[in-house]
Amino acid sequence: MSRRILVVEDEALIADAIAARLRSEGFDVNVAQDGPSGVAFAQRFEPDLVILDLMLPGMDGLEVCRRIQHDKHVPVLMLTARDDETDLVVGLAVGADDYMTKPFSMRELVARVQALLRRVGAVSERSQARSIHLGHSLEIDVDGRRVRRDGEIVHLTPTEFDLLVFFAERPGRVATRELLLSEVWGYSDGSGARTVDSHVRTLRRKLGDDVIRTVHGVGYALGEADDSPTPTTAPISDAPSERT
Ligand code: CA
Repeated sequence: MSRRILVVEDEALIADAIAARLRSEGFDVNVAQDGPSGVAFAQRFEPDLVILDLMLPGMDGLEVCRRIQHDKHVPVLMLTARDDETDLVVGLAVGADDYMTKPFSMRELVARVQALLRRVGAVSERSQARSIHLGHSLEIDVDGRRVRRDGEIVHLTPTEFDLLVFFAERPGRVATRELLLSEVWGYSDGSGARTVDSHVRTLRRKLGDDVIRTVHGVGYALGEADDSPTPTTAPISDAPSERT
């Protein structure tokens, strides 16, 4: 079954070009031309990924992103104009997983879409039934893609979750922004360091400042939460806890 992509973009020429290109790549594409219909389409169409313009009539992309992500986390690729920088940072904070600045090439768009879908798929395939405990308060259910802090579920976007698992699986090791971009985001060109910083910020806001520490001049590493810095991996079922 082909993957479904929802394009929310009010500029018809851009929307049509994106839709045509994605259809030629085998995706099932729907287009909405304003914010409210984007939200309505997302509920009906249940897309695997949403391409979302930031500046939309009716309701801006930030609000659309919030509403789309409200019940269920769907990867969101945000489209912005060059001067939308402040909004962009907010956009990443409300749950967009990635962004592209207009104008962009269709080739790059397709590459980003495929990287995002691969990432979400790869994590669910490789994750076996197991949970990772960080300190006393944090529990990551890798299979169910859920995180609890002090027993309460904390809502993370797919990218925030992947980033957290990446750190949790490599205790004591420092990751550069370039490594994170290539391993978590699937990019090879090393661009987008600000995307990493923004996602680390939201993880800290949601899970506590100590969850990830900054290693100045290098990158980030798992924080030393509580009094037990070493994560323990426990199988939930009979599934083996290690993966290759
Ligand atoms: Ca627009």
